[in-house]
Amino acid sequence: MPTIQEQDRVLARVEEATQEILELSRKLIRIPTVNPPGTAYTEATDLIGDALGKLGFEVERFAAEGRPEHTEEHPRINVVATRRGSRPRPCVHLNGHYDVVPAGEGWTHDPFGGEIENGRLYGRGAADMKAGLVAAIFAAEALHRAGLGTKGTIEISATADEESGGFSGVAWLAEKGRLTSSSIDHVIIPEPFGVDRICTGHRGVYWFEIESEGEIGHGSMPFLGVNAITNMTPLLEALQSRLVPALAQRRTSMPVVPEGARYATLNINSIEGGQAGMDPQTPCVADRCKVIFDRRFLVEEGFEATRREIVDILREVEAADPSRRYCLTDLMVVHPVQAPDDSPLIAALEAAIRRVVQTPPIRVASPGTYDQKHFVRIGGIDSCVAYGPGELELAHQPDESCSIADLIDSTKVMALALLSLLAPENA
Ligand SMILES: [Zn+2]
Repeated sequence: MPTIQEQDRVLARVEEATQEILELSRKLIRIPTVNPPGTAYTEATDLIGDALGKLGFEVERFAAEGRPEHTEEHPRINVVATRRGSRPRPCVHLNGHYDVVPAGEGWTHDPFGGEIENGRLYGRGAADMKAGLVAAIFAAEALHRAGLGTKGTIEISATADEESGGFSGVAWLAEKGRLTSSSIDHVIIPEPFGVDRICTGHRGVYWFEIESEGEIGHGSMPFLGVNAITNMTPLLEALQSRLVPALAQRRTSMPVVPEGARYATLNINSIEGGQAGMDPQTPCVADRCKVIFDRRFLVEEGFEATRREIVDILREVEAADPSRRYCLTDLMVVHPVQAPDDSPLIAALEAAIRRVVQTPPIRVASPGTYDQKHFVRIGGIDSCVAYGPGELELAHQPDESCSIADLIDSTKVMALALLSLLAPENA
């Protein structure tokens, strides 16, 4: 365990870096890394890579070769920086995505201005999660500046496309073997869960499409065709009246916030029907109807049972009338993830929150997913959590902002957690 004096030295180095932290955060917010479509990624990764290089990290840059969204116009670049200690392990990896969602309407501040007002930093990405990425950089840097030496490795990655699934970012790096348990022990993702909250995982996502197949006929003689829209109705009715109430009774033991998101849900995402490739108004019987669903499932349910339950209802409704034909297509599956309760990473962050924020740390789980899934499912790294500055409620909103005090405090928390995970035993 690091001594109080060692902890104080690290905390003082963070405090002294306040202006540097703010400056880099503001510069990063001013680069409009908007996704979609993925603009200014090169500019942003140059800024981050150069900043890390100047601080003395070894910097690698990876373009997501082979991914369809990695194009000449919108290259998908990832930066990974390394600082080696006296031995390679343990390795703590800090990861932040640098892409942001479009600004949208309703701002009273410049979304790409990086303005500071009343102790808050404003702009798209201020909370989600450019400030968090900078906090991670200076947490690692404070440990180095304190001159205490580390026994393991610290890595920092700035990755693309989290907002669109992370396939060119964390998933790509994990698939290529750069972010896996063969070199990494713990991962902190500074997503904006707040200065006293550690997010240990998230629920599962199952997106699927059901197509009802009909038979085209003249609109004046509908009895000669099979209407795909009419045939979709009993299926929607069955899902709504039977499945939805059953899901509302299933509650996860994971501490998902907000509390309403602790239950399994089914959302109809879109519905579309008519003739393939035609205007909506045609003199014909609709021969196709497609519905897209978003099913959030619990770790206690699991994916197999989740899917089987839908297939069972579908087959039952189909069997009741020989003219009904449904085709189910899986669009995306994200399995639930949850860091082990006894992970030393969680213990280190909790002790650091007690010391810096002086409130009891709170463990939460996320209503939606983020890059943790790729670290766990592809990289095989279970000891992965999200902890970072900013309020989740402000992410993706107009006038997104982050409290500067929280930004500095979360930098301190991450720095102390790194110190406790990486301090030499004999120190
Ligand atoms: Zn985010």
